[in-house]
Amino acid sequence: MSLPEFKLLRPRTTAEAIALLAQHAGNIRILAGGTDLLPSMQQKLFAPQYLLDIRRIAGLKGIRQQPNGAVEIGALTALTAIEYSDLLRQHFPVLTEAAKTVASPVLRNMGTIGGNICLDTRCLWYNQSLQWRKSCAFCIKKDGDLCHVAPGGTKCWAVFSGDTPAALLCLDAEIEIASAAGIRRVKLAEFYTGLGDNYRKLAANELLTRLFLPPSSAGYRGVYRKLRIRGSIDYPLAGVAVVLKQSNGHISGHIEDIRVGLTAVNPAPVLVKGATELLAGRRMTEEWAEAAGVLAAQTAKPLTTSALTPEYRREMIRVFTKRAVLSLATET
Ligand SMILES: Cc1cc2nc3c(=O)[nH]c(=O)nc-3n(C[C@H](O)[C@H](O)[C@H](O)COP(=O)(O)OP(=O)(O)OC[C@H]3O[C@@H](n4cnc5c(N)ncnc54)[C@H](O)[C@@H]3O)c2cc1C
Ligand code: SF4
Repeated sequence: MSLPEFKLLRPRTTAEAIALLAQHAGNIRILAGGTDLLPSMQQKLFAPQYLLDIRRIAGLKGIRQQPNGAVEIGALTALTAIEYSDLLRQHFPVLTEAAKTVASPVLRNMGTIGGNICLDTRCLWYNQSLQWRKSCAFCIKKDGDLCHVAPGGTKCWAVFSGDTPAALLCLDAEIEIASAAGIRRVKLAEFYTGLGDNYRKLAANELLTRLFLPPSSAGYRGVYRKLRIRGSIDYPLAGVAVVLKQSNGHISGHIEDIRVGLTAVNPAPVLVKGATELLAGRRMTEEWAEAAGVLAAQTAKPLTTSALTPEYRREMIRVFTKRAVLSLATET
């Protein structure tokens, strides 16, 4: 499949990039690692006149600790750099765990954290060639007005399928977005709309520049569990991130705080509401871990957007959550 024609713009600074976005808004797309955007362009899901290649902007790369203990990560930082960051592994292990499950080593060398956060939502009926989509009838997300997944509805349910945002939600991450109008900083939890088609709150002239992990989220133990068909490369079909803090910082302690983030089972990554209320102050047992799993499964709303059934994906959310909570709270 060939790429549609486009003009490549290669700014060296963020200011230059923002000016180009303002100049061509609506007719330009941001290219970071290109690991999702370029295959999508080959499938003719996007055909922008301009591609803004931001890879030369050195200021958008890197992982830095701020004096107050917060950690700042440039949007263009490769997933491999996150996977192997000692600083992140020590203070925010759930993020390194999630990053190391993305795609494959080669794709993690190219793929960036910004691209992972901004990743397009996915669906069996959407991530296909132009010919394939045409022969089945175009759908709401691209060129049509019907949904094959929920026929009769007017909403798109394509599923958010990035791994790291589930971990970042658990860490209460914030993102910085720049445009010609200035800089805005928002909680990652407020970045996603919950709609499968118009899935993120990012205007055509805006660039994601950095993300921030607050010091209050440092020191939580964390794990990420992921369901996929091929363990070596695939997008998640269900993903669970869990972070946990216990009194005395020890597995014998009571649970002080727990956060559970889900991905690949809704049109947006989501935090499981009520997990802390359910478990705070308790000592972990098999029964409480099961209750956490049931709560997480109730938050997951998978539909037939992928190769595995919604029932199986929801069930695996329960199983992964239970196992993750239990292992974090009881294993050294
Ligand atoms: C075979 C295969 C397997 C994959 N498996 C996984 C997987 O298991 N888990 C997973 O999470 N992903 C997976 N991916 C997708 C992809 O590799 C990752 O999500 C990666 O992090 C995307 O980053 P990128 O820099 O390549 O993004 P790009 O492809 O460059 O961009 C993705 C989207 O983000 C936008 N964007 C990028 N950077 C910015 C920015 N700074 N500001 C605003 N918008 C921006 C782009 O315009 C585009 O819409 C897979 C891809 C392939 C091809
Ligand atoms: S959920 Fe429906 S509208 Fe959305 S991509 Fe899939 S088939 Fe299309």
